[in-house]
Amino acid sequence: VHSCGAPLPVLGRDVTVPLVTGGEVAYAALDYAASAPALQRVWDDVAAYAPYYGSVHRGAGYLSQLSTDLFESSRATVHEFLDCREDDQVVFTRSTTDSLNLLAGVLPDGCEVFVFETEHHAALLPWTNARVTCLDAPRTPGQAVLTLESALAGRDLGVPALVCVTGASNVTGELWPVRELAAVSHAHGARIVLDAAQLAPHHPVSVRDSGVDWVAFSGHKLYAPFGSGVLAGRADWLREAEPYLAGGGASRKVSRRAGGGVDVEWHTTAARHEAGSPNVIGVYAIASACRALTEAGFDTLVEREQQLVEKVLAGLAGVPGVRVLSLFGDGSSSTPAGGTPARVGVVSFVVEGWSSSHFAAALSAEYGIGVRDGLFCAHPLVRTLLGGDPRQPGECGAAPGGDSAEGAGRPLNAIRVSFGAGTPDEHVERFV
Ligand code: PMP
Repeated sequence: VHSCGAPLPVLGRDVTVPLVTGGEVAYAALDYAASAPALQRVWDDVAAYAPYYGSVHRGAGYLSQLSTDLFESSRATVHEFLDCREDDQVVFTRSTTDSLNLLAGVLPDGCEVFVFETEHHAALLPWTNARVTCLDAPRTPGQAVLTLESALAGRDLGVPALVCVTGASNVTGELWPVRELAAVSHAHGARIVLDAAQLAPHHPVSVRDSGVDWVAFSGHKLYAPFGSGVLAGRADWLREAEPYLAGGGASRKVSRRAGGGVDVEWHTTAARHEAGSPNVIGVYAIASACRALTEAGFDTLVEREQQLVEKVLAGLAGVPGVRVLSLFGDGSSSTPAGGTPARVGVVSFVVEGWSSSHFAAALSAEYGIGVRDGLFCAHPLVRTLLGGDPRQPGECGAAPGGDSAEGAGRPLNAIRVSFGAGTPDEHVERFV
């Protein structure tokens, strides 16, 4: 077996789980796309800081000052990690979902939003205050660019517009042509936000190089714990809109209005959208993860992960009845001609004659492997990939035994295996 080099140490490496067949086995967490295990290094950093944490931005005490420094230097670390433009703001949120909802709340009046039907629901649904154009699933990266271009062509340039795209699909793992989509958006006077929830843990993200206006990601997928996320990018819409939450921290001056009511002047910095006491530990953990990934080096991480992707795809290709889901190709290779990796460590598939939820339950009960089954909060995409109609409603992640494995002769759910920097070779070998 070709060795893929050493995984980064993560929490949960020593957890063993019982098997229905008897005995126990080391748990193989192959559900990184849902939440990646935190890096041991992040845990250690947080543990070292935890005794000293205090309320940020307000306290005069030493520990409050220390926490404020760490909170603000974490912002600078994320700014650097994302290779942001100098004037870009980094707003700390709870998650990618939170970040995209925040952005939805700062859209200028009359803003149009363009989004592919292939998006995760976090990117598909928050735009309730805008006129949304939902674009058909493209079947190649080039088609994605052309589809967007024809949707934007001829639009009224006086109307503000936002395009929302994924960097890497949480279903197929496939990479989207972000730089090209950003160029097309800008050529037609639109702005673009990158959902980097699945991209940032696996690839370097450069706001400058890609040209995107905003980027969103979640700490818990980037080897930090739950509860913190990021929205980074252009300051103007953020600065001009009402705060995401109204309250202390977001306000600069508050006074009683003559004749009744309250007057408020909001901050124009990221603090405008961070009202209330922030998740200082979660933010510190994100910064620690950014540092750890940068130090490990994305070249090394990508190379190792691509070897794991190849192992999984080659293994699945040898199993009769397995179909790997792919929007942009036949799913047989992670590396198209030219050598650019085509997918991150996320592979979804169906197995002929099997209910996906039974299959996933068997991987857990018989092999100690944790994967996910269902529609992965991307209903239209999964339905398209399974040969169905993206306009038909469906259920997300039906319970084992409760899903109908086949609808009109085709599966309704899929199985997803996902992995990353902490995955040992043995986990994917056992899976295969
Ligand atoms: N976008 C993508 C592509 C995702 O995979 C996810 C999480 N599955 C999200 C957004 C939402 O992330 P969170 O649940 O952390 O808000």
